Amino acid sequence: MTSQIAKITVLPGDYIGPEIMKAGLAVLKAVSEDEFNYQIDEQPFGGAGIDQKGDPLPQATLDSAKNSDAVLLAAIGGPKWDDAPKRPEKGLLQIRQELNLFANIRPTAISQAMQKYSPIKQVEPVDFVIVRELTSGIYFGKPREIDDHHAIDTMRYTTDEIRRVARVAFEMAMKRNKHVTMVDKANVLATSNLWRRVVSDVAAEYPEVRYDNSYVDAAAMKIISAPEQFDVILTENMFGDILSDESAEITGSLGTIPSMSRGTDGPALYEPIHGSAPDIAGKGIANPLSMINSVAMMLTHTFDRPDLADQINQSVDDVIESGNVTPDLGGTASTTEVTDAIINKIRERR
Ligand code: ATP
Ligand code: MG
Repeated sequence: MTSQIAKITVLPGDYIGPEIMKAGLAVLKAVSEDEFNYQIDEQPFGGAGIDQKGDPLPQATLDSAKNSDAVLLAAIGGPKWDDAPKRPEKGLLQIRQELNLFANIRPTAISQAMQKYSPIKQVEPVDFVIVRELTSGIYFGKPREIDDHHAIDTMRYTTDEIRRVARVAFEMAMKRNKHVTMVDKANVLATSNLWRRVVSDVAAEYPEVRYDNSYVDAAAMKIISAPEQFDVILTENMFGDILSDESAEITGSLGTIPSMSRGTDGPALYEPIHGSAPDIAGKGIANPLSMINSVAMMLTHTFDRPDLADQINQSVDDVIESGNVTPDLGGTASTTEVTDAIINKIRERR
């Protein structure tokens, strides 16, 4: 963080985006009182960018993001822009490239309070993060071809691309339980072999961190059968895409999970993992926890205020425990009721 007053670019986006962003900002305000100085710059992005400026990532939005310490995004896209010349999602790919966000970090945690929502029976607490390479690999590699008789995708990685994301994973492990599992398919893929070479070199720089490997098929099973064994999972783009959705599933609700995307320096971007949920927009029933948890993640990782994040996390757990939850978690509470309950808990803790 560079400035005295934290600068946060806020991108509410589309459908339930503005509803949950409002909740996230209200919680940020409550937890920051006398504790944390910040200013927000709200900008249109995604469908809202198209509607207001004719572009999913308007220049002013990009400039604001680049000048910020952190970017908070709610959710973008939806049927309204199905026929638009530019897709709202284009903005997301662009901003990731512009901010060089090559590492995507998703926590999977099943706290005591969340146990009853999990589809797996779990005795020990689950708390791991996936560090996924986000800007290379088979989604971007060339050649990419298709004709009537064949098609080609290319999984390509350079040592630099692997090293920089590996460092993110090991740094993260140092602040957690000092264990990194690299997930690959080294029995089949050349890229996986390069990953093993580079990552074991990086591992040598972190002697305190326990480092092991798992094939992706085995890791997919272990996420269900023994998720408590993981601390930090490091993996390439496509494997990370699949495993992080699988991991979200074991927590029981899409509506609670935050994420962070970051580069080497410059602002990181924090957002819920779910989309803009057009089916429930405007009904006041969107689960705000994914956005509130994204705010907590931002306070920990960009602003080095895990104490404030803890206040949020504990208050969220209290409210979940009390059963005051939105319909996606089987409750009857509204977005505002959940948010207000969390703010009350934060104030009680003061
Ligand atoms: P995208 O392609 O943008 O990821 P998607 O098609 O995967 O979108 P989501 O928008 O993530 O879909 O929504 C999937 C389902 O989860 C929908 O039924 C939606 O209503 C629900 N959902 C998503 N987020 C929330 C939330 N915060 N609260 C409650 N329900 C949610
Ligand atoms: Mg989705």
